[in-house]
Amino acid sequence: MRFLDTTLRDGEQTPGVSLNPEQKLEIAAKLAAVGVDVIEAGSAAASEGEREAIRVIANAGLSAEICTYVRALHEDIDLAADFGADSVHLVIPVSDLHIAKKLRKTREQVADMAYDAVEYAKSRGLIVELSGEDASRADQQYLREVFTEGVKRGADRLCFCDTVGVLTPEKVADYIPPLARIAPLSIHCHDDLGFALTNTMAALKHGASCAHVTVNGLGERAGNTPLEEVVMALEVLYGYTTRIKKEELFKLATLVSRHTGVPLPINKAIVGEMAFTHESGIHAHGIMREPATYESIKPEMVGRKRRMVLGKHSGSASVEAALAEMNYHPDENQLKAIVNRIKKLGDAGKRVTDTDLMAVAEAVLAIECRPFIKMRQFTATSGSHMIPTATVTLMVNGQEMTGAATGDGPVDAAMQVLRKCVADVADIQLEEYHVDAIRGGTDALVDVTVRLSKDGKIITSRGASTDIIMASVEAMIAGMNRLLREEHEDRGKNPR
Ligand code: MN
Repeated sequence: MRFLDTTLRDGEQTPGVSLNPEQKLEIAAKLAAVGVDVIEAGSAAASEGEREAIRVIANAGLSAEICTYVRALHEDIDLAADFGADSVHLVIPVSDLHIAKKLRKTREQVADMAYDAVEYAKSRGLIVELSGEDASRADQQYLREVFTEGVKRGADRLCFCDTVGVLTPEKVADYIPPLARIAPLSIHCHDDLGFALTNTMAALKHGASCAHVTVNGLGERAGNTPLEEVVMALEVLYGYTTRIKKEELFKLATLVSRHTGVPLPINKAIVGEMAFTHESGIHAHGIMREPATYESIKPEMVGRKRRMVLGKHSGSASVEAALAEMNYHPDENQLKAIVNRIKKLGDAGKRVTDTDLMAVAEAVLAIECRPFIKMRQFTATSGSHMIPTATVTLMVNGQEMTGAATGDGPVDAAMQVLRKCVADVADIQLEEYHVDAIRGGTDALVDVTVRLSKDGKIITSRGASTDIIMASVEAMIAGMNRLLREEHEDRGKNPR
């Protein structure tokens, strides 16, 4: 089973996405390391930047074959060869709709263009994957003729493109086997009706030997078939071992999300934030006894960790486990009281952060803790002709610290200055920042949740205020206190 990853071509055609050559190289290197066979690095005819990216990637000595998208034009093929690609994804429209309406040509003219382009690309030393655009709406007899003659003229491989996502597994069973007998066949699916993965799997079953995929399913409109989903479906559901380094899939997903600016949907299979997160009491209880009860994939398989979050669905077992991890050991009645308070927070529509749990636990257990960090003074300024700046005075473990920082905006400046002030005692990273406005209006209460990490430990905390900057600062200080107290203070454990 082979994988052609087109994150850098079809994925980049996601509206609003544009990658520069350095970002493309970083993603290509990661794709090669993860083990994809072919990287479609771009479209050489598109722009100078695209050509530069193809040149840089082709020269990087990656283990994958480097491919570029070309039309059936000599100038496109020349660019592919001149900029160092190993292969071309040579795309010709094959449906009458595309042939007549888009190209305003006849079937014969298009077929001749295809054969000429195949021969020319071979004369330039390129591997040729001859690809039928809109193949799922084409006359299949015509498509077979073009593919058969194309292979005679030198095409090495073929590709069936479901360009607008209208294929079904039934059509796949009909269309794919005769084509797969002509030459090695790839399947390229789009997710307009949510069928991309299903159709890709069906095509692999019916003779296709290569899946065109993108990381996180990026791609035009609703996107392409996601790499991570095909790999895991093959491995988990069909017992097929791929050559993909599965434990790197999540890192790859995060890298692509960061560079493209397209956030991962929280409920996305395999790589979404909630894919391995549990809240509900009964499920969480089952998971703690035996993870297989509510997990079909072990999170470690794809380089992730299971996460338990607390809310109104949480049962006492999950709360107790979360408390034990923080070193609190309540007795039965105390636990009951803590669980009730957690459920109340959940019922009020709040997500329960680690600092919430900590505050509740300490209130119930009557533990008194001096905060490690206390704020004395805080100012943030921004305006039309100035760089946003924040200054702060903190008491950090009894010592007064004053600092200033600039940022992309006043909130960013505030986050920077807080991190700077505690940098001497700890390297704390802001992993995620989330704002909820509680009801409309500019006077609304703003609820900020932050996720902070320090040496691999991750915690969440919250701040609430009508002032978004103060809510952010409050969330940040609460979270930093939570991360720092553990190592700097005896927490007044309550031994059982
Ligand atoms: Mn496509």
